[in-house]
Amino acid sequence: MTKDDLLRLILDAADDVGRVFDHAEIARWPSGASDDFAELGLLRAASGDMTAPCPSCAEAHTEPVHVRVESDGRKRFFIRCPESLRVEIDPEMCLGWEIDPDGLAAAVCTAMDLKGSPKPVVPGRLWRLGRIPWKGKTREVLLALRRCDSDTASVSSHVGPGGRSIVLVPHHVPDARIWPGRTPAVVALSRVATLEGSLLVIDGVALADIIVEADRLADALGVVAIDQVGKKMVRQQVKAEIKSLLTDDALIAAYKEYGSYRKAAEALTEQMGQPISKDKVKRAVDRKGGVAAVIPQSDSASVARGVASHPRDRQKKFLERR
Ligand SMILES: [Zn+2]
Repeated sequence: MTKDDLLRLILDAADDVGRVFDHAEIARWPSGASDDFAELGLLRAASGDMTAPCPSCAEAHTEPVHVRVESDGRKRFFIRCPESLRVEIDPEMCLGWEIDPDGLAAAVCTAMDLKGSPKPVVPGRLWRLGRIPWKGKTREVLLALRRCDSDTASVSSHVGPGGRSIVLVPHHVPDARIWPGRTPAVVALSRVATLEGSLLVIDGVALADIIVEADRLADALGVVAIDQVGKKMVRQQVKAEIKSLLTDDALIAAYKEYGSYRKAAEALTEQMGQPISKDKVKRAVDRKGGVAAVIPQSDSASVARGVASHPRDRQKKFLERR
């Protein structure tokens, strides 16, 4: 396993929650690799509950570590084993390593030669790293982790809707639908980052190629997608318009046309594409002073005509007649 293989492994793990590389795993790495990655800022000693691989049996199993404090204050470490019941282990075998998200953000900042330090937007998830020059202007660079988590939309909302941002992700490029508005240029670090000696290096040419391609794709997708907030606003507007269209006049016109609350309600429901109750029609008629006021005697002929008219005539929208 080369160090670049390890870098990919670590970047892949950066999208996981609580991923710990334990002693058994680190033992298979090139010697000193875990220290090098710790120095780079990508790894740190695991802070959670300790686990350790079993050193005593043929089963490759890893167990939680129990710590016993002796009367002299010395700590001893044990794990449970199905074969030996309880196995004492060396303290160094309890050591695990985990991803340091802030360290990763800082290392990427340095590798891209960005001024200043990363500014966390959502702790452990999203950072503003700085700006890079792009075709006579500049574009903001962000780092985003764990884009597949369920709360990803609220994290993504911090990325502007204009599609100008460059969003670095460790390895997995998320679904384009998680972004508000136009999709930003998303670049997987695993495609552009390598290790040279003990330095993290980002291939600027490869990065630019991927950004150009991402921009082209976003253009091809065409019109800026309406984000979730936008869709809700449009829905509300449509609802408000439907509501305003259904004035008492329209309800009464329907009643006069069909001569019954129920039939008027059914016809309106069909036309409006939303349920209109017969009570709603009745209330409009009542507000006008009741049936007698709405359909004067002289108008009864038109009611009769309406009821007897050809079904196709009924398709004519009363709303158009207003
Ligand atoms: Zn065992």
